[in-house]
Amino acid sequence: RSKQQGGNRVTFFSMEMNQQAMVRLELESYLRKALQKNEFYLCYQPLIDLETGNLYGSEALIRWNHPKLGLVSPGDFIPLAEETGLIKDIGGWVLRSACKQNKRWQMLGYKSLSISVNVSAYQFQQPGFLKEVKMALELSGMEPKYLTLELTESTMLRNVEYSIQVMQSLQEIGVKVSIDDFGTGYSSLSYLKDLPINTLKIDRSFINNLRLNTSDVAIVKAIITMGHGLAVKVVAEGVETKEQIELLKELKCHYAQGFYIHKPLMTSEFEEGLSQFNGQ
Ligand code: C2E
Ligand code: MG
Ligand code: MG
Ligand code: MG
Repeated sequence: RSKQQGGNRVTFFSMEMNQQAMVRLELESYLRKALQKNEFYLCYQPLIDLETGNLYGSEALIRWNHPKLGLVSPGDFIPLAEETGLIKDIGGWVLRSACKQNKRWQMLGYKSLSISVNVSAYQFQQPGFLKEVKMALELSGMEPKYLTLELTESTMLRNVEYSIQVMQSLQEIGVKVSIDDFGTGYSSLSYLKDLPINTLKIDRSFINNLRLNTSDVAIVKAIITMGHGLAVKVVAEGVETKEQIELLKELKCHYAQGFYIHKPLMTSEFEEGLSQFNGQ
């Protein structure tokens, strides 16, 4: 706002702030009821094995369809769910639903289909988290090795020692751990070798300009090489063009995910697609 408004400035700003606070409060009260009102659902985005072209599995991505607000994107409500602690229940629901769904697909004949689930910091740091994971596996009857939990670097960095302990326990029960949005955080390479992880998921910001931007090519190449050296799988997220996928194949990246392959799909669409994807 311009200076000419002079004396009105304070009022104007506090009004604006009130409005923002109200929007937030409203959103929060909607979010509190969303679970019991069944307003959440999951989409599934395919992950492809770049060597064989086969479907490896999918990533479960939450969607919130509110009757008044319409579709709210996770980028807009997950942070609020984190701040309010609501993520604990929402995350538990995601975990159970995703495992149940993937087991259903396995029973349809896609026996080695994997599922990746995003876990946020607050959820991961909860003392009951491990139990929740075990519960989701038990309830679904899915083998632990088909479940990958996606954590971000910031999630682990909140409390490195405790995080490593939890990741270790996950490894012990056979659940896989992936670092999501890799390359955007601040984790130092020196302790990457000590992290009990199975996968590095290269952030899509590095994939977007691949080919055009030589420094991005260098970074992606380095991450893939490092992945091979550390004996972890490397996934490229946000693959949007044929050129990107070709280059990733050349660089021996293991898996890819992105709009060029498939957008996140509704359960029914994914299920229809299953019969066309290469069988396992
Ligand atoms: P993420 O885990 O990095 O998920 C990838 C995001 O990139 C998804 O957005 C997906 O739709 C989008 N994406 C996939 N391929 C492409 C592509 O080729 N181009 C572009 N531009 N985007 C692509 P979405 O579904 O809006 O999710 C955003 C973020 O919200 C996720 O990032 C994740 O951090 C979080 N999130 C989603 N579902 C959950 C959940 O169930 N629990 C938690 N804690 N977080 C979730
Ligand atoms: Mg993810
Ligand atoms: Mg990601
Ligand atoms: Mg991301």
